[in-house]
Amino acid sequence: MKIPLFPKAWMDGSIMDTQDAQIPVTTHALHYGTTAFEGMRAYWNGKNLNIFRVKEHIRRLHRSGLFYNIVAPYNEEEIADAIIDLCVANNIRENAYIRPMYFVGEWGIDLYLNRDAPVRFVILTFPLKEYFAQSAISTCVVPTRRFSDQSIPVKAKMGGNYLNSIAATLEAKQGGFDEAIMLDMSGCVSEGPGENIFLVQDGQLVTPDTASSILDGITKDTIIWLADRMGIKTVHRRVAYSELHTADEIFMTGTAVGVCAVKRVGHHDISGSPGEITTKLSNVYTDTVHGRGDVPEEWLMQVY
Ligand code: PMP
Repeated sequence: MKIPLFPKAWMDGSIMDTQDAQIPVTTHALHYGTTAFEGMRAYWNGKNLNIFRVKEHIRRLHRSGLFYNIVAPYNEEEIADAIIDLCVANNIRENAYIRPMYFVGEWGIDLYLNRDAPVRFVILTFPLKEYFAQSAISTCVVPTRRFSDQSIPVKAKMGGNYLNSIAATLEAKQGGFDEAIMLDMSGCVSEGPGENIFLVQDGQLVTPDTASSILDGITKDTIIWLADRMGIKTVHRRVAYSELHTADEIFMTGTAVGVCAVKRVGHHDISGSPGEITTKLSNVYTDTVHGRGDVPEEWLMQVY
């Protein structure tokens, strides 16, 4: 699938035609996955373009590379300004996905990344409406386990990490399911290939804790905040595999998918999906990202 990119890209400090944003085949990141990246969403409400929780995304972007001694060559403000400039250059007036990334440039086959290693920075944008076509998705628990922090840092959003997600997705899709659920190395529920997971049990949210090899999702954090304001408590803990079969509702969260109801786990149907709490949270999330309702001011960066 070729993504329909907006015509302009931001690369190493300049805006250029996306087709001219090219890198040499000797780029280290191409060989070793040494790319730190983010996925952000810009939402068009018919009048304004707002980017959701930019600060948190940039903070995670900065932190990701640091695990590997890869330092982003721009600070938070510079990156936010670059994103705004790029949205303006592309005259974006629809919902869009923003992909900022920095990566190790030409550094031969050296696996030691010291501060002399060149770091390139690119921002791409493309239109994105719904990630999944259906309102509730089928999932299965795949054999591939979510990698553990004992191998590589799970909190770093690095290109190379996503081979794990790609393997899990392949297993789910080849089995005829929309999405994978991965267990951690101890057999507890971890997350999806690009989403965090929540179970609804007796009116509460239950979600795998940070020791369950999850990426700390910004959507997850938003949902917990919104749920709290609706009087719904969230419990962070280890989640046993079998709880996937007894949950009242299950949903997944992520910048790309938003809040996505799960209607099936393997051959176990979750009756009435999307359930009441999932639907409420999904609706309030949609309102929040579009700036409707009582949204913390710092969560929305207005482009125009
Ligand atoms: N887990 C993984 C592995 C992901 O790639 C993502 C998407 N960034 C998430 C969880 C959800 O994170 P967020 O809500 O910040 O998009």
